[in-house]
Amino acid sequence: METVEKKERIAVYPGSFDPVTLGHMDIIHRAAKQYDRLIVAVLNNTSKSPLFTIEERADLLRQATADIPNVEVDVFRDLLVNYMDQKQAQVAVRGVRSVTDFEYELQIATTNRKLNENVETIFMMTNPLYSYLSSSVVKEIARFDGDVSELVTPEVRLALKAKLHGESSQ
Ligand code: ADP
Repeated sequence: METVEKKERIAVYPGSFDPVTLGHMDIIHRAAKQYDRLIVAVLNNTSKSPLFTIEERADLLRQATADIPNVEVDVFRDLLVNYMDQKQAQVAVRGVRSVTDFEYELQIATTNRKLNENVETIFMMTNPLYSYLSSSVVKEIARFDGDVSELVTPEVRLALKAKLHGESSQ
């Protein structure tokens, strides 16, 4: 009998993750259930000046996802479609919070499709609990020493303190 090898379903969740929030984590948990492997890929976005370095952002994500077996964290500096080819990933996952997000995401997804028609973008609707939540909101609150404990993981909260107020992250 012929054995048909099932192709591994690999998805990439790309983003700046500066830093990862519970909104991102919600998408990661949900996407990880849909695919065999989920690669969370931290992007070196040249149009944004990030608070955390790309490696710091990846490390915070690694800590946050350590208990999800089919999730791995990587960094990339390439075009997303080229990176996905290299990883043999078929799907790009993006989260959508609002109509504004949708317009932006539609533009990116259409561009990526034009660059490589094998790449499929899957949108996941935000969990209403986190529909207002962004990395920028978290940084703004943390800058003024506000409480971000319900918005990020404990490790991210400490990393923000260390980065913005020079306090030890231990
Ligand atoms: P980018 O700079 O690529 O927009 P972000 O780190 O801001 O990267 O976000 C990565 C992805 O996660 C984007 O698709 C964004 O819409 C989505 N996202 C961010 N915050 C949330 C949230 N609270 N709920 C759902 N999706 C989110």
